[in-house]
Amino acid sequence: MQYKIPRGTYDILPQDSRQWHKVISVFRETAQSFGYEEIVTPVFEQADLFERSSGESSDIVRKEMYRFEDRKGRIFALRPEGTAPVVRSFVENHLDATARINRLYYIGPMFRYDRPQAGRYRQFYQYGVECIGSHHPYYDAEIIALQNTFLQRLGLKGITLEINSVGCATCTKDYEQALIRFYEPQKAELCPDCLERLNNKPRRLLDCKVPHCKTISAKAPVMLDFLDADCRSHFEQVQSYLKLMNISYTINPHIVRGLDYYTHTAFEFLNNSLGAQNAVSGGGRYNGLLKQIGGMDLPAVGIAGGFERLMLSLKQEQIMPADEFRPDVYLILMGKEAIRMGIPLMNRLRQTGLAVIFDPDKASLKAQLKAADGCKARFAVIIGADEVTSGKLSVKNLDSKEQISCSFDELFRILGSPSLP
Ligand code: AMP
Repeated sequence: MQYKIPRGTYDILPQDSRQWHKVISVFRETAQSFGYEEIVTPVFEQADLFERSSGESSDIVRKEMYRFEDRKGRIFALRPEGTAPVVRSFVENHLDATARINRLYYIGPMFRYDRPQAGRYRQFYQYGVECIGSHHPYYDAEIIALQNTFLQRLGLKGITLEINSVGCATCTKDYEQALIRFYEPQKAELCPDCLERLNNKPRRLLDCKVPHCKTISAKAPVMLDFLDADCRSHFEQVQSYLKLMNISYTINPHIVRGLDYYTHTAFEFLNNSLGAQNAVSGGGRYNGLLKQIGGMDLPAVGIAGGFERLMLSLKQEQIMPADEFRPDVYLILMGKEAIRMGIPLMNRLRQTGLAVIFDPDKASLKAQLKAADGCKARFAVIIGADEVTSGKLSVKNLDSKEQISCSFDELFRILGSPSLP
C-alpha cells in the first residue's frame, strides 16, 4: 500500500524550501525592524477559545475547525487562526505588565477543514502581527505599513490594499437594523446560510460567497454611512497616516472580515491575479477581543497573511527571493589513506561554516567530478595517491575548470573561509 498525503496539505520539497525560508526570514526581519518580537503558541488550544473569539456563527467554527477529544474527554481544536492563541497567551502571561504596548508576531501552521483549491489548503502557514495596548489610529497604519514593507522587500508589485471601517458596537446596532430592513423583503432569494445570518449576525450577510447572495449584497447599505463621529475620525486619521507613509489604498466598503471580533479599521491586501483566493493578507482592529475571552479590556490591531498565496504571487511575478544553494566543496577521496587525510580536513571546513559534500559510495574520479558539477559545488577538492604522498591537495574551480595544487592553509584562503581553524 502506498500512502498519500492528506487532501488539502502539501509537502515543501527541497527544491522549494530555500525560497520558503527566505520569505519567512524577510518577514522576520521586517517585523523586527518595526520593533515586533516573536511569540510562539501551541498548534492546539481549547476549542472553546476559538468558539468564543471567532463567534459560534462564523464559518471557521461552524464548518472548518478540526475539533477533537483527547483521551480524558477534553475538547481541543487545531488552531484555525493565530490571533486568539496570541491573545490567550497575552492574558495568561500578563504581558500587559511587561510593556504598555506589546508588539508581537507569529509564524506557524493553521488548520481549516475547507474545500481545497489553488491557494486554499487545510493546513496552511500564516504569519501575523498583533499590536496590543493602544487605540491610536497610528497603530492601524503601522500594521498596514509593516505588511506593505514586507511585500516591498520581497519585490512584489501586483498587490493592492483595500481598507474599510466596520465601526464599533454602538454604530453596528443601527447598521444591522438597516441591513435587516434591506434583506428582509429579499429573504426568499437568500441561501440557507444567509437566512441564518439574517437572524444571528446580519453583518455576515455581506461576507457570503454564493454568487446570487453577492449580487444582492452589492446593493446593501454600507457601514461607512453609519459610522459615529469617533469611528469616522479614527478612520480618517488612519488614512492620513497611510498618506504620510506613502501607502496607496482604496476604500472598499464591502470588507467585513469573517470573524466577530473586528471593530473600526478592517483591511485586506489583494492579488487579483490569484483568482478566487485573492486575499494575501487581512486584518483589522479588534478592541473587544481581549475582554471577550476573559482578559483585560485592551485595544489591539493586527494582520495575518498566508505564505502559500505569497509564494504563488512570487511565482507569478517571477521573483526568486533565495539564491540557489551551492556547496562550497565537493570532497573527493580516493583510497583509504586519502580518507584518513580528508575526513579531518572536512571537519575543519564544516566548522568554519563552509558547506561540504562527501559521498563515500562513489568510486571513479570521473563519476565524482560529475556529481560535483551536478550539485553545483564551487570547488572540488581531490585527494588521491599523489596528494597523500606530497601532502598537498588538488583543488578544481568548477566554474573556471582551473585546477591547482595547494596546501591545507592555502585551501582555506582560496575558499574565502571567514577564519582559519
Ligand atoms: P483570515 O484569517 O481568513 O483572514 O486569513 C488570513 C490569510 O491567511 C488570508 O489572507 C490567506 O492568505 C491565508 N489563508 C486563510 N485561509 C487559508 C487557507 N485555507 N489556505 C491558505 N491560506 C489561507
